[in-house]
Amino acid sequence: MFENQREKIQNQLTGPTSFVGLRAGVVGLGIEGHSLARFFLQQGATVEVHHVQSQAELATDPRLAAQVAQLAAAGAHLKLGPSYLQGLLECDIIGVVQSAFTYKYPQNMAVLQQAVEQGIPLVSNLSLFFDRCPARIIGITGTNGKTTTTEMAAAILAQGPVRSHVAGNIGASPLDFLQAIAPADLVLLEISNYQLRFLERSPWLAAITNIAPDHLVDYGGDYAAYRAAKHRILEFQAPGDWAVLNADDPWTSNWANTATGRVMPFSRSQPLHPGAYVEEGMLCLSTGDSTFPVCALDALQVRGKHNIENALAAAAIGLLAGVPVEGIAAALAGFKTGAHRIEFVRCHAGVEWFNDSKSSTPASTVAAGRSFPGRGIILLLGGRDKGLSWEELAAEARESVRQVICFGEAGPLIHAALGHPQAYTTADLAGAVSLAAGAARSGDVVLLSPGGTSFDAYKDYQSRGLHFKTLVNDLA
Ligand code: ADP
Repeated sequence: MFENQREKIQNQLTGPTSFVGLRAGVVGLGIEGHSLARFFLQQGATVEVHHVQSQAELATDPRLAAQVAQLAAAGAHLKLGPSYLQGLLECDIIGVVQSAFTYKYPQNMAVLQQAVEQGIPLVSNLSLFFDRCPARIIGITGTNGKTTTTEMAAAILAQGPVRSHVAGNIGASPLDFLQAIAPADLVLLEISNYQLRFLERSPWLAAITNIAPDHLVDYGGDYAAYRAAKHRILEFQAPGDWAVLNADDPWTSNWANTATGRVMPFSRSQPLHPGAYVEEGMLCLSTGDSTFPVCALDALQVRGKHNIENALAAAAIGLLAGVPVEGIAAALAGFKTGAHRIEFVRCHAGVEWFNDSKSSTPASTVAAGRSFPGRGIILLLGGRDKGLSWEELAAEARESVRQVICFGEAGPLIHAALGHPQAYTTADLAGAVSLAAGAARSGDVVLLSPGGTSFDAYKDYQSRGLHFKTLVNDLA
């Protein structure tokens, strides 16, 4: 049902070119909603923001409260609380944030469907941006590694001859700096599956890190529908565009065969010409005609094979963007992963503690676990279950993880699904840290890589990671 509605909605994703005098609605606050509202205001529209939380609820979230205050001061009308969707169907155009269509807000779907039937154009942050951006866009998507690859690519582009801008799902709206973009610039965007669902354009360079089941609850449990959303990043490419695709991933290697643009694959397991690959411990790039050894894998500061894949994708992007090989090498060698991604916290009594709170899928936890070959691993798993299969992680954990400690809402479920001989369940993260501290021996690694979302107990993965770091740093 959702898919039918989505198709109809997509057909409406073309907005007017002038907003002067129009009544523009925005559904949802946050980075995207705030940016959409400001964009509409700048364009001369009368703006109303429809947001599910009440004024009182917003008061407890300083970031959203500040957005509301700023928008109200700029002349936007705020429709908050239980009847927040009221009046939306009287708008001439509606901007939707990416989370507006998730399972959390079924009420949005009904009203937005009605909007479509009434012929009200729906636009998204990225659809507006793609229609107006004068520069080439590089879009990075995939199930895991999007942010890391985007950050690596940003570091590489900074070494190149062209000015670049970074935004998207990484935490900034590109609409905010649209006016500062010159035609010769490059815009690097991290793009989520939700953002792709409502995009009718492809970037000049589309990169996909990998594909694994995720967010299935928003696709009615249909993995094919989730994959179709990811595939959209390639669908509107012209023959001169580029696709950087993971040749080791069964889905993306297959998509290379039907890509409408040129393909630059990357692989950890085989040389590719053209492509980005690993040979004799070196990260290499090939244009097809020429091959360039870029840097030794030993020179990378990031951990794990998955980060080699991210580095390969980022290096391929750098090559296609015209960054000199020396610049790519320097950027990769200097790159450190951001907070909450296998982040080293502390060595305490010979035990190394790592925070991988960003991991909210079993697949990313598998990748994180593989980053410590030969070490005694105590793995902290838990949070809110996304309904994904734990099978691969169970097999992997039985093989290479000494002890598993499950916590939070999904703790008992994960404990049962893992069938690990040394598994324990505890109510919360504090309990998990204390159990791990008691069990760990000198030389061990304790890895928080939960595999579930943080929403059972935290606002977001950052809050969960920060709490973990506090707990670990407080260990006596
Ligand atoms: P995303 O933005 O797609 O959520 P991140 O780059 O923030 O991904 O990484 C989140 C977590 O996913 C990491 O901490 C790591 O556990 C895992 N991960 C990162 N890159 C990959 C990859 N290429 N393949 C599998 N897992 C990965």
